[in-house]
Amino acid sequence: MASRDEQRDAPMFDPDYYGLTGEQAALCTAARRLGEESFASRADEWDRDAIFPMANYRDLHETGLLAVCVPKEHGGHGADLKTYSLMAAEIGRYCGSTALTFNMHVSSCLWTGALADDLPMTAAQRREHNRRRALHYDRIVDKGAIYAQPFSEGGAAAAGFRPFGTLADRVEGGWVINGKKIFASLAGSADYYGVLCTEKKENLSRRDTMYFAVPADAEGVSVIGDWDPLGMRGTVSRDLLFENVFVSDDAALMPKGVYFEAATRWPHMFTTLTPSYMGIAQAAYDFTVRYLRGEVPGMPPVRRRMYPTKQHAVAEMLIALEQAKALWFQMLGEARPNPSKASVLRAYCTQYTVMETANDLCQKAIRTCGGQSMLKSLPLERLYRDSRCGSLMLPWTAELCIDKLGREALYERGEDDE
Ligand SMILES: Cc1cc2nc3c(=O)[nH]c(=O)nc-3n(C[C@H](O)[C@H](O)[C@H](O)COP(=O)(O)OP(=O)(O)OC[C@H]3O[C@@H](n4cnc5c(N)ncnc54)[C@H](O)[C@@H]3O)c2cc1C
Repeated sequence: MASRDEQRDAPMFDPDYYGLTGEQAALCTAARRLGEESFASRADEWDRDAIFPMANYRDLHETGLLAVCVPKEHGGHGADLKTYSLMAAEIGRYCGSTALTFNMHVSSCLWTGALADDLPMTAAQRREHNRRRALHYDRIVDKGAIYAQPFSEGGAAAAGFRPFGTLADRVEGGWVINGKKIFASLAGSADYYGVLCTEKKENLSRRDTMYFAVPADAEGVSVIGDWDPLGMRGTVSRDLLFENVFVSDDAALMPKGVYFEAATRWPHMFTTLTPSYMGIAQAAYDFTVRYLRGEVPGMPPVRRRMYPTKQHAVAEMLIALEQAKALWFQMLGEARPNPSKASVLRAYCTQYTVMETANDLCQKAIRTCGGQSMLKSLPLERLYRDSRCGSLMLPWTAELCIDKLGREALYERGEDDE
């Protein structure tokens, strides 16, 4: 009889072999424990009814993980992109919607924290930024405030080609925001919407991108539209309307111009969507092994592992999983300001690989395990549906990664064929 510890899932990245720090290993263990003990059993409910996983967020707050990327001097764990990603992948194994929405929340801390510390600011900007971000971190650490990250608008802005169409108009003591965001995960559940918008001027410029924490209950904010999608149903990514919404100057999460610098100099910031899908890829593999061994809880203990076709399929799944994990881990170690061209290309390759591999593994898992494995009483069909969403996430969709890779591999900056 296996002991309780032996029955637990192994870490996705063994701390010894991958050389994780003690803090990284502890955060991954904490996330995995929450996932195994609570998130896994609740995931079906959020998915079935397309509701936001609030109970999971209460747990994340109670365990201190909600503040994983809040700097240590402000009461958080001070996790960098790599540390956050490793722990979030463990959440993704058990509940994709929790991991994906957690990314939106965490980005508000990572971008204003570890990333912003690496970016150029004047001394006055830095002082003001430090004062303002402290207000924002206090809400998360003390009150468990949850942040969303609505930037998609249904046009070329979220892909990074145009200025955001949501506009911020300068007024006495603050700004007035007008616009519409689509696919805003955590809509109706977040306490603050981290809205990306453009300063209203005659000539709109991406350089004038602003990033505000808009209180969800501010006058003029409304959640609109239905939400009944294929996958990631618990993200509740409905649309948001901002109609003459006033925010004070202190709502700025970054000084003007700094988001543009981040998007330009810190491209790995857009890889924060991958952990959810890396976790799903691992979960699909884990499920398949358990299923073929006849060890899935709630299923008769029928073994199917003796068939060579099953063994081949599992071998191929493991190869694809290890390839994705190795590339992902390498990419995380390279995340830094002003990376080399080769490193940026590798980041696109990684984003593409993780998003597509997650879905490939899920579909292969269903084909290999068979008809009973895709019953809604088991997690595999949810993993399959959730996994399809990864390639659609802007600004680095699978299509845009391919686009960028082909072009940037063949052209140096400023080159054309005219
Ligand atoms: C589950 C889920 C949760 C989400 N949560 C959030 C969230 O919290 N916040 C948020 O901001 N967004 C979120 N999104 C939105 C996501 O990032 C995309 O913005 C959205 O899926 C794009 O919708 P679309 O198909 O209408 O895009 P379209 O603009 O119609 O683009 C369709 C595809 O065309 C390609 N494309 C787009 N623009 C260009 C271009 N200029 N050149 C070449 N190709 C292009 C891309 O591959 C894109 O996938 C979420 C999406 C999903 C599926």
